[in-house]
Amino acid sequence: MSRKMSKQQEARLSHKRMSDRDYRDPWRNLWVFKTDGGRCMICWERCNVLEVHEIPRGPHRKAALTQTSCFLATCRACHQGELDSMGIPEQLAIKRALDPEHYDRIRVNLIRARQPEAITEEEVDEALTRLQKEKPWLIQP
Ligand SMILES: [Zn+2]
Repeated sequence: MSRKMSKQQEARLSHKRMSDRDYRDPWRNLWVFKTDGGRCMICWERCNVLEVHEIPRGPHRKAALTQTSCFLATCRACHQGELDSMGIPEQLAIKRALDPEHYDRIRVNLIRARQPEAITEEEVDEALTRLQKEKPWLIQP
């Protein structure tokens, strides 16, 4: 059987992508607008286009698409670069420092199908201390 998609399959897939975008984008964009002040949360550069990164990955990402506790606003370069290899405690530390209103460590642990204390507040504290050496805009809350 051919591995190439039929026109019908392609149409179905692009329709699905489009409807995913439709349902989640208005308020994801609103969150970005309210939260980041136009800056990437990873490199602190101002940019015109920010992407939403979900902290939970793989099979857990789908559940994270509608959870502001899981979001980081990031430029494309950081999304595909630094964030790709960044640990979860570090990502939570950035969330707590720059979007404390939506920070919810226990919820992120649960969405990742882990125990509520799988990543502890102490781990987030330590990650923040490490990150502050190279990212001085991450002020201690
Ligand atoms: Zn960036």
